[in-house]
Amino acid sequence: MQTIGFLGTGIMGTAMASRLLEAGYDLCVWNRTPDKLAPLLDKGARAAATPREVVEHSAVTLAMLADPQAARTVFFGDDGVCRAMAPEKAYIDLSTVDPHTPQEIAAAVREKGGRFLEAPVSGSKKPAEDGTLIVLAGGDGKLYADAKEIFSVIAKKSLYLGEAGRGAQMKLVVNMVMGSMMTAFSEGLALAGKCGLDPGELLDVLQNGAMANPMFHIKGPNMLDDDYAVNFPLKHMQKDMRLAIELGDESRQALFAAASANEQFKRALDDGSGDLDFSAVHKIIKG
Ligand code: NAP
Repeated sequence: MQTIGFLGTGIMGTAMASRLLEAGYDLCVWNRTPDKLAPLLDKGARAAATPREVVEHSAVTLAMLADPQAARTVFFGDDGVCRAMAPEKAYIDLSTVDPHTPQEIAAAVREKGGRFLEAPVSGSKKPAEDGTLIVLAGGDGKLYADAKEIFSVIAKKSLYLGEAGRGAQMKLVVNMVMGSMMTAFSEGLALAGKCGLDPGELLDVLQNGAMANPMFHIKGPNMLDDDYAVNFPLKHMQKDMRLAIELGDESRQALFAAASANEQFKRALDDGSGDLDFSAVHKIIKG
């Protein structure tokens, strides 16, 4: 099978790259912190020393990086992806970033004659392990069609939303709703406790009504136990709230609920919860 390059093996990257290896793809991998490559090397992946080297060895390279700064450094930096981009090469960035980052990367890739697709994903660690993410793609439509086989390994659904930047916009809107829901949910749990109700019974009521959803169902009991084992790091949730609010500024859309939720995530970051699950915003909210 073809060699796929994979850059960025954090929580999501490791899960996605593992699935690609299990599906039989030959993988060439790179991570800023090389130690984190160990589980993938054990499964047969080959390590490269730089992003540039990965692209040199791969017709298609995927990246799953923390934020816009990481996505830009890995693409534009010394020994970055751009150095090896060429007409026969394709680059697919799965990271959650602002819409301008994929637009600038798309322009640089075009200049080198290559092909680019942004493909941020909706879903967390478990869907990444199970291959049930949702891909939100934008950019080269032909590359989207060609990458369908790869996406079928990591996702249960994929959408092509148009030009580069559209995927980032959709992803930020989705995560903005999720972040706002989480802080409202946390306030509800805290209020139930403070006024003497059983928060466990609140979970039961919510789960049996029109507001039932997997996030409340999965995270709620853990939040009541102060268990914030990380699936989606709080620092990335706050990054997504910040980028969504920037998008609101650019689009002249007021975002009162999101702005307030963002303040709670900022407080949780200051409290040292950045590497915990984003549900750890509950620690700050309940006081
Ligand atoms: P993570 O575990 O923190 O992994 C982040 C990755 O980015 C690591 O490989 C890290 O390398 C790399 N990185 C960070 N800064 C870098 C830099 N300046 N230069 C090069 N590499 C850098 O995060 P994650 O949960 O996998 O999330 C990755 C992306 O997916 C984020 O954009 C996140 O918002 C998005 N996402 C996450 C989830 C989720 O539930 N976890 C779901 C959907 C989307 P090191 O190992 O060296 O730190």
